[in-house]
Amino acid sequence: MRHAQALDGGGSSAQYVCTWVDPKDTIHRNSCGYTSKKHLVKRHIESKHLQIKPITCEICGKGFAQRTNYSTHMNTHTGDTPHKCPYPNCEATFGDPARRHRHMKTVHNHVPSKRRTQSDHGSMLLDDVSEPEEEDSA
Ligand SMILES: [Zn+2]
Ligand SMILES: [Zn+2]
Ligand SMILES: [Zn+2]
Repeated sequence: MRHAQALDGGGSSAQYVCTWVDPKDTIHRNSCGYTSKKHLVKRHIESKHLQIKPITCEICGKGFAQRTNYSTHMNTHTGDTPHKCPYPNCEATFGDPARRHRHMKTVHNHVPSKRRTQSDHGSMLLDDVSEPEEEDSA
């Protein structure tokens, strides 16, 4: 299968574009156009278009394209809450970084960093939450 095409030749940082066309979209025939590094385009095609989910939860059978999503999901079975609120004097822990993020926003008025997250992965874009931004804590 060839659904990725190099935009510029050579170099390890070459950009690739996803040329996937939805077979059901017989009118527009628009290709997806997702652009990234080769391995990311490949992963994008597998998870978005082919829906390959190599990791399966052996408890409930849900499939996951990425290990991070899977381990977050497993916390819902195990009750683990490894994601601790980084604010001092706050003991809150969470099984899901997205929940921790929501907690930080509602409880601590946390302002997410300006860095835009890739819109590609819905819920797991919260890796930047480990350090609360304290500029000057008067
Ligand atoms: Zn695509
Ligand atoms: Zn499960
Ligand atoms: Zn907290």
